[in-house]
This record gives sequence, structure tokens and C-alpha cells, in this order.
Amino acid sequence: MKLVSACLVGLCANYRGEACAVESLQQAFARGEVIPVCPEQLGGLPTPRPPAEVFGGTAEDVLSGKARVIQCDGTDVTDAFLRGAREVLKLARLVQPELIIFKENSPSCGVNSVYDGTHSRRLIAGCGVTTALLRQHGFKVISEKDIPS
Ligand code: SF4
Repeated sequence: MKLVSACLVGLCANYRGEACAVESLQQAFARGEVIPVCPEQLGGLPTPRPPAEVFGGTAEDVLSGKARVIQCDGTDVTDAFLRGAREVLKLARLVQPELIIFKENSPSCGVNSVYDGTHSRRLIAGCGVTTALLRQHGFKVISEKDIPS
């Protein structure tokens, strides 16, 4: 079994209330081969919601209390991001997925790149808060851009 970002299987979970569907993952979902998760929704945030970025450090810094997650309107949503990340970790521990496929560039699910915290659409190397927590607990997370063929 695999865990997959909910927006990648066609669920309208992202901050705009839209999906970012990848056809092969939609098909895998239809066959019951993947479990969709949205950490931001699991953390209690509404959909749609203002976009958020990690501010003042990395996702790992958010986990250790040294950086925050801030929406474009200035709202601090760090606690919701941490709650969602912990919920996904709980699910991963139950399911023991052989692979986790997450949506690149997201402040929760990003794998190799995320926005830089200035809300100016600039990407930097780094990962999202949920990805960082899962990796700290030994789970393998890849981006939808790196799905094995
Ligand atoms: Fe998709 Fe993850 Fe964003 Fe939820 S938090 S919409 S699953 S990228």
C-alpha cells in the first residue's frame, strides 16, 4: 500500500479547493492501491484556505519550534500544520506504506522544493512539514515528479 497526497488522486483538497491530479495515481486510487491523505485538512484547516509558507527556517525547524508556518494574510497556522503532520504519521505507522508519494512544492507535502516564506512564488530546496516528520521516522517519501515507471 502507498500513501499519496489527496490532491494528486483528484480530490479537491488544495488551498484553492482544487485538485492536482496525476492520471496514474487516480487510476491506482480507483483500484484501491493507494490511501489519500491531506495533512492540512487533517490539521483542521478549511478548504479553500489562504496559501501558507514556512517562515524563518526549514520544515525541520518548524518541527523543533524554531520556525513558523504563516498564511499570506499573516495568520500563524503552525499548530494546524503540526497537528496534520502528526495525524499522517499516525496513519503511516498503522499502514506501514512501502512508499509515500507527495505533492511537490507544498508547505506540508513538498519533497525537494518549497516556497521560500516570502509569498512571492520563489522556490527553494527543502521539504514540507509532514514530509520532514515522516522522514524523521524512517518513511520514504518521493515527489509525484519522481514516480517510478
Ligand atoms: Fe495536497 Fe498536501 Fe496540499 Fe493537502 S496539504 S492539498 S495533500 S499538497
